[in-house]
Amino acid sequence: MSKLALLGGQPVRTTPFPAYVTAGAEEKEAAALVIDSGVLSRYLGCWHEQFYGGTEVQALEQEWAAYYGVKHAIAVNSCTSGLICALGAIGLSPGDEVIVTPWSMSISATGPLFYGGIPVFADLEPDYFCLSPASVEERISPRTKAIVVVDIFGQPYDAEAINAIARKHGIPVIEDCAQAPGVRLNGRYAGTLGDVGVFSLNYHKHIHCGEGGVIVTDSDSLAERLQLIRNHAEAVVAGKGTPDLTNMLGYNFRMTELDAALTRCQLKKLAPLLEIRQRNVAYLENGLKEIPCLTIPAVRLGAEHAYYVHACRYDAEEAGITSRRFVEAVKAELPTFHLREKEGTKLGAGYVQPLYLLPMFQQRIAIGNQGWPFTLTSRTYARGLCPVCEDLYEHSVITHEFMLPSMDKSDMDDVVKAFHKVWENRDELR
Ligand SMILES: *Cc1c(COP(=O)(O)O)cnc(C)c1O
Repeated sequence: MSKLALLGGQPVRTTPFPAYVTAGAEEKEAAALVIDSGVLSRYLGCWHEQFYGGTEVQALEQEWAAYYGVKHAIAVNSCTSGLICALGAIGLSPGDEVIVTPWSMSISATGPLFYGGIPVFADLEPDYFCLSPASVEERISPRTKAIVVVDIFGQPYDAEAINAIARKHGIPVIEDCAQAPGVRLNGRYAGTLGDVGVFSLNYHKHIHCGEGGVIVTDSDSLAERLQLIRNHAEAVVAGKGTPDLTNMLGYNFRMTELDAALTRCQLKKLAPLLEIRQRNVAYLENGLKEIPCLTIPAVRLGAEHAYYVHACRYDAEEAGITSRRFVEAVKAELPTFHLREKEGTKLGAGYVQPLYLLPMFQQRIAIGNQGWPFTLTSRTYARGLCPVCEDLYEHSVITHEFMLPSMDKSDMDDVVKAFHKVWENRDELR
C-alpha cells in the first residue's frame, strides 16, 4: 500500500487553501464613485486637454510617481502594452537588435518584433535567474538598440553590471518589473533601476485591477513619446507640434477611470501585502530548507525580493527523480486555492520553456507570413542558445505560490508536510 497520494495514498490535504483576494470595501466604494460620476473614461485621441485622460487616471499617475520617486508615471491597460510603448518610445527601428531574456512571460522577449526589431536572447544567472551580465555583454553588437531586463520572480536584476554595459554602448535599459512591485535594490525601487520601467496590474500580480499597467521614467522626452504611443500619436502630433515622427503610430492603450480608481486603492495595500509574502516565504523556507534536494532561492546582495513566485533550485541527482515527477507527487498531496480552483495546484517544474523555442522563433513567422522581421537578421534560435536557462527549465527549478498572503501558518504547515512526505517516500516514485 503506497503512502503517496499520486500512487493512491491519502493526500496531506484536500480542503482548498484560502482565496487570495486583494480587493474589498475600499475598491467597491471607489468603483461606485466612478460609476456615479458617469465618467468611466475621459480620453480624447487628439491634441486636447483630455489627451492625458481623466481625473482618476491622472491622480493614479501622480500617486504612483510619488510612491516610486520618479518624475513620470504613465498608466496603460497592461504591462504588455507598456512594453510596446517603451520599445516604440526609444525609437526602435526594423532590424535593430534588442537583448532579451529567454525566461519570462513571452512579451518580455517578443515586444521588439512589433517594431521589426530582433530579439537576441542572452543567458541567465544560475542562482538569481535574471539576465547574466556576462552573457548580455557577449550578445551586444553594433545593431543593439536596447536591453529588456526582467526582475524575474520578484528579484531585481543586476542593475549595476547591466546598466554599466548599457551606458558603455549608449543604449537604454527597459525594465520589466511586472513581478517585482515595491521592492528595492540598494535603496532604489525595481522599476526605476533602468531608463523605463513597466509594471503589470493583471489579476495574477501582487496588486491588480484585473488588467492594467503603469510605465515609469525620469525622462521627459521618453514620457512624452510614451503618452503619444498610448493614445493615437498619429492623430495628435500635428496639434501638439511633435516634430520627430519616429514610431508616432499610436494605439489605444488607455486605462479606464474605473481601473485607475481600483489601482489607487491597491497601491495603498502593496507594502503590507508584500510584507506578508516575505514573512510567509521565511516561514516556508524554514521547513523546506531541511529537504536535501531543494535550495531556497538566493537573494542578491542589497536586494529585497517580492516573491511573485518562490523558485527553488532542485537537485535531481540528489532526489533520484526528475523535477517533474517530484512536482507531480507534491501536487497530488495538496489542494488548489479557493476561487482559483481552475488554475490547479500552484506548483510547477521549470517555469516556462526558453522563449526562443516558441514556434514563432523556430519557424521565423511573426508579422505576416513572409518571415518579417527575421528576414533582417542572421541570428538564429536553435536549442542550446542559453544552456543555463535550458537546464533550469528541464531539470533544476521548481516554483510555487504557497506564500500568497491568504495563507496562514497551518496552511503552510500542510505545504511543508507535503514536500517532506514526497521526499521521504521518493523511492516509491522511481
Ligand atoms: C505578467 C507579466 C507580464 C505581462 O503583464 P500584462 O499586464 O498581463 O500584460 C509581462 N512580464 C512579466 C515578467 C510578467 O510577469
